[in-house]
Amino acid sequence: MSFTLHGLAVSQGIAIGHAHLVSHATLEVAHYTVRERDIPREIERFEAALADVRTDLGALHTEALQPGAPSELSALVNVHAMFLDDPHLANAPKDLIRERRCNAEWALVQQMEQLVDQFEEIDDSYLRERKHDIVQVVERILRSLTGHPRRFGKKGASKGDDTELIVVAHDLSPADTIQFKNLKIAGFVTDLGGATSHTAIVARSLAIPAVVGLHHARPLVREDDLVIVDGTRGVLIVGPDARVLEEYQLRKRELELERSKLNRLITARACTLDDIDVRLQANIELPQDVEQVKKLGADGVGLFRTEFLFMNRDTLPTEDEQFESYRSVAKALAGKPVTIRTLDVGADKTAGALAGTSRQAPNPALGLRAIRYCLAEPQIFLAQLRAILRASHFGKVQMLIPMLMNAAEIEQTLVMIDQAKQQLRERRCKFDEKIPVGGMIEIPAAALALGPFLKRLQFLSIGTNDLIQYTLAIDRTDEAVSHLYDPLHPAILRLLSHVIQTANKAEIPVAVCGELAGDPKMTRLLLGMGLREFSMHPTQLLEVKQQVVMSDTEQLAQKVARLLRLDEAERISEQVERL
Ligand code: PEP
Ligand code: MG
Repeated sequence: MSFTLHGLAVSQGIAIGHAHLVSHATLEVAHYTVRERDIPREIERFEAALADVRTDLGALHTEALQPGAPSELSALVNVHAMFLDDPHLANAPKDLIRERRCNAEWALVQQMEQLVDQFEEIDDSYLRERKHDIVQVVERILRSLTGHPRRFGKKGASKGDDTELIVVAHDLSPADTIQFKNLKIAGFVTDLGGATSHTAIVARSLAIPAVVGLHHARPLVREDDLVIVDGTRGVLIVGPDARVLEEYQLRKRELELERSKLNRLITARACTLDDIDVRLQANIELPQDVEQVKKLGADGVGLFRTEFLFMNRDTLPTEDEQFESYRSVAKALAGKPVTIRTLDVGADKTAGALAGTSRQAPNPALGLRAIRYCLAEPQIFLAQLRAILRASHFGKVQMLIPMLMNAAEIEQTLVMIDQAKQQLRERRCKFDEKIPVGGMIEIPAAALALGPFLKRLQFLSIGTNDLIQYTLAIDRTDEAVSHLYDPLHPAILRLLSHVIQTANKAEIPVAVCGELAGDPKMTRLLLGMGLREFSMHPTQLLEVKQQVVMSDTEQLAQKVARLLRLDEAERISEQVERL
């Protein structure tokens, strides 16, 4: 039977392949039947995994007692050890293995899902949140059972053919999605999610077609169903007939051809018709992304989202580990600017190893996120600042601070940077004493009261994803309000124009690094506002460059000035199309 589901198009392109269902937001395991005589061996396997995790937790416990270890570590280890020995986790899966003759991984996940459901019904919010600890303990046991740390199996590769895999999930966290960078995933769809959620952002950076907010894909699609993901129109076609399949195969080839034609622009100068140079930089999530940045001829890295280095691991990356990552990017870019953003965790970006980030705050996007988290966790922040400073000796590094809101936060941050510098001087480590420090403008309060930003910082970068979320009061991860996401709302346009014009007047460099910068339909509008620096996913660079080389900034400035006076949404979008 063929059917179609409609959702939000978040990452362009077409993927055709077989559905691979993900059973839980983060945990995907195989399900198979075990022969009667192999049941004792399966139970032994499970017990060996429990013993393994017990040993790991013992080692972590010793680490937690060392001077300087985060105080939360010991509490976390104790809670995990308690769950590990609880009969609900330690014994119930064994009963399931016996009763259902199933494999240990599957029995464990079934039991976990039941426990998580029970915890979700608890009124006390502290106890309710312990469900995350259960999931983490289960993840540890699974890792030991499967013998590798990855949550997504290399299913396609093990089949021995080149079947394209399409992940179908109820929801995917940014931490899940970043793992696709190492796996052969052709596309993905989810029931939940918004267009500028970090899950969608990672999909765009991977250049794999994706549709989110489909509501019912996970329950309706079956494992191995043939599916088409149309990431441009936001459609999932399940079980397409021969005619539809052929049409999509043709369209896919056409799109690939169009993309390869754009490659001609790689070496072209990003310069407008009236000879204004425009700087086109790239956003990256992991050091390995620099290969693509170089290949596409970007003018540098305008946003390195360092929080992805903290995800999918049980312990924090050390200062040295971070330093190696930042240095590798700085060196690879050989003198081109590398803008390293300090840790932006919280909201939809959680990292198990960071205490407090998996806590369900009442309003996570308005809570202890980004710089707020870093100022509350000075040891974690200082380690990152030192790592960035040390990397500045190996290239043209600048530091970007997310979610700054007022003068006090700027001052506190600068004090911390000075402290990190002093620590390095005492260690006789080399770094760039004059490293530029910039602030992200992503809270309306910051956009409207730019004074301290212009006075105390060396550059600005506008995070339109959050600026839009906070100005329009719509959660960027919630598909229920995604229809209200409107980058052309007059308030957004006026805020953007105000920040760009004010920074230009003060001769403080200003860039846009939110998703708007990589949308070629917005390039002319932003140029008309006076923007000369864009940072986007490398995959978008050439399409934006194509717009730049066809633009005349003087003409655009006049048209955009008129457009900014409009109030009606329809007229604004009509005018933007005509720019
Ligand atoms: C933004 O908010 O626009 C931005 C670039 O930061 P992030 O998407 O990582 O929140
Ligand atoms: Mg942001």
